[in-house]
Amino acid sequence: MEASICTVCGTQFQPSEAPPPRCPICTDARQFVPRAGQGWTTLGRLQHTHFTTMREQEPDLIGLGMAPKFAIGQRALLLRTSSGNLLWDCISLLDPATMQAVAALGGLAGIAISHPHYYTTMVEWAQAFGCPVHLHAADRKWVMREDPALRFWDGETNTVLPGVTLIHAGGHFAGSTVLHWRDGAQGRAALLSGDILQVTPDGNVSFMWSYPNLIPLDAATVTGIAERVGRYRFDRIYGGWWGKAVDRDGPEVVRRSAERYVARLAGQRPD
Ligand SMILES: [Zn+2]
Ligand SMILES: [Zn+2]
Repeated sequence: MEASICTVCGTQFQPSEAPPPRCPICTDARQFVPRAGQGWTTLGRLQHTHFTTMREQEPDLIGLGMAPKFAIGQRALLLRTSSGNLLWDCISLLDPATMQAVAALGGLAGIAISHPHYYTTMVEWAQAFGCPVHLHAADRKWVMREDPALRFWDGETNTVLPGVTLIHAGGHFAGSTVLHWRDGAQGRAALLSGDILQVTPDGNVSFMWSYPNLIPLDAATVTGIAERVGRYRFDRIYGGWWGKAVDRDGPEVVRRSAERYVARLAGQRPD
């Protein structure tokens, strides 16, 4: 039996005789099933068709992506601390070369994932490195492959390593989480936001219920996200894709971005 991976969202399912009849992550209104239909692959096949790219983003923060682009195309982040490494978000590919490279960096003390679109092959990663995966309990129904390594947390924050705190933000998914890294940005702190706060080309952030289908969030939710994140001090924001980052004044960028979003929802716009 093989564990099928959805080629549209990258999610790996429980091992089965045949691929699942559908992918609930993709039939959800936030995602989509392509006109050509659902496609499936396996980790074994991905190891032949793709490779992992690793690039330092700043000291102690290494990006991990897949080439060529696969499924949603996000890149994960490996965060190094003196108490161990944490993988923030995840990618579908895990091959011997990646395992070796991550092991050489000290392995993983844990994995934390912003929302179900990046759950991918989290169970493979957890088994390979013998570490837990921290997921917000509000998104539990989106887990397609159960494993004892999955740790569901509830509430507003969860400090998973010293100086590494998960913040429940909500919005895109009920359990959407961002990560505050106290020692990031040379001690000025950084926020790893996935697409819960999506870094935009003009250096601000935005918030959506569905990105591919362009369905926005309501004003109260956006204000709530900005308020929860705004309690923290941080300089940089790292979004979920290569090159998506805000360099300075993170909380002010979030405040300003939420304000302009809510103003548009209320029908106000600049001349
Ligand atoms: Zn899918
Ligand atoms: Zn998403």
